[in-house]
Amino acid sequence: MDLTLSPSEQQFREEVRGWIEANHPGPEPEAGLEEVMAFRREWQQKMHAAGWAGISWPKEYGGRGATMIEQAIFVGEASRLEAPSPANVLGLAMGGPVVIAHGTDAQKQRYLEPILTAEEIWCQGFSEPESGSDLASLKTRAVKDGDEWVVTGQKVWTTFAQYAKWCMLVARTDPDAPKHKGLTYFLMDMELEGVEAKPLVQITGEGEFNEVFIEEARIPDENVIGEVGGGWSVAITTLMNERAGLAFGAIAQVANGLKRLGALAAETRTNGGTAAEDPVIRQRLAQLYIEAETMRLNAYRGLTKTMQSGIPGPEGSLGKWQWADINQRMAELALDIEGAYAPLARGDEHAIAGGAWQYSFLRSRANSIEGGTTDILKNIIAERVLGLPKMR
Ligand SMILES: Cc1cc2nc3c(=O)[nH]c(=O)nc-3n(C[C@H](O)[C@H](O)[C@H](O)COP(=O)(O)OP(=O)(O)OC[C@H]3O[C@@H](n4cnc5c(N)ncnc54)[C@H](O)[C@@H]3O)c2cc1C
Repeated sequence: MDLTLSPSEQQFREEVRGWIEANHPGPEPEAGLEEVMAFRREWQQKMHAAGWAGISWPKEYGGRGATMIEQAIFVGEASRLEAPSPANVLGLAMGGPVVIAHGTDAQKQRYLEPILTAEEIWCQGFSEPESGSDLASLKTRAVKDGDEWVVTGQKVWTTFAQYAKWCMLVARTDPDAPKHKGLTYFLMDMELEGVEAKPLVQITGEGEFNEVFIEEARIPDENVIGEVGGGWSVAITTLMNERAGLAFGAIAQVANGLKRLGALAAETRTNGGTAAEDPVIRQRLAQLYIEAETMRLNAYRGLTKTMQSGIPGPEGSLGKWQWADINQRMAELALDIEGAYAPLARGDEHAIAGGAWQYSFLRSRANSIEGGTTDILKNIIAERVLGLPKMR
């Protein structure tokens, strides 16, 4: 595997860098999620106007037609320069690729452009109160009535559902079929009668995700993606894109975090000098650096596989697992370094660096759950990457 960028890729990176540096809107507002979403919408519109939204989408669908390496370069640079996230993160990373892979021409025509412009935000309605890891056991029912489907059920942990126009919804259409075969993938209009999103408050105090209640909502037949009964394979395309999209942004984010952590250790006084001189802290920092480097190399391995096969594969699960683990341990180490100051609340005037590590400590607890728990990712790696015997 050759990890050096070709001259044209280096030139692409320079172009990306130059554009982000010239257009970076500064840090996200601290006020509330509403303001943050408005800020991210504006940022995405700017990205789109300059041709940086949907970078690896084909040009005919409004993308840049760039290679997967170029897409990875963009994500890495945006993360390194701490550019804001686009507002329609789920639409860009999952919704668009799913419509491109499984949608009809009419669906591509209808849905792709407003994803790129952030006019229509997307959310992912997979998890239910009793179906998360075992997604195929989900109970939300869709029953055909003329040229519509009548849908009833409940989804949960649905990120940004309160802002979404479209929900990638998996529902059971054949209760008698084996559980993976009776599912169908719908695009549900969140403005339909019978659909209600209620934000849930997270440990950070924010309400990013929601419960979504669906009571006899009528989804037109033309909103089925793929085949009726073929929802499982469309759901898998969604999840593989979710994990694959993470890797290169995660590498840069971890690298930035490690720089800050090193600086925190160097400036924090302890009894015998600074935290950076403490042999145990040094060892924990060094271990994180080593693991960050293996994560980076594994991301290239995953990218190589994706480029060979054309679709993101199970290798993306490794990066997601490593990122969750490293991110949580970075925040834990930061709070250990801060010592007695660590429990001070976010925003407290005494909190170090505005309580950024406190926030990160709380938010990162979700990293090993969202997008597939670490246990499940380990099962995927064992069975589908290493070829070990199946659990059941
Ligand atoms: C911040 C955040 C955002 C989210 N956003 C969305 C979203 O937008 N859309 C959406 O659909 N979902 C979303 N989720 C839900 C997420 O996908 C699920 O929480 C996750 O898949 C786990 O499902 P569960 O919560 O039902 O836990 P369960 O599946 O009940 O798991 C409970 C525990 O058992 C373990 N476990 C379960 N099965 C196995 C097994 N076979 N082998 C070993 N261990 C196992 C799990 O690892 C976990 O520790 C989000 C979650 C979070 C935290």
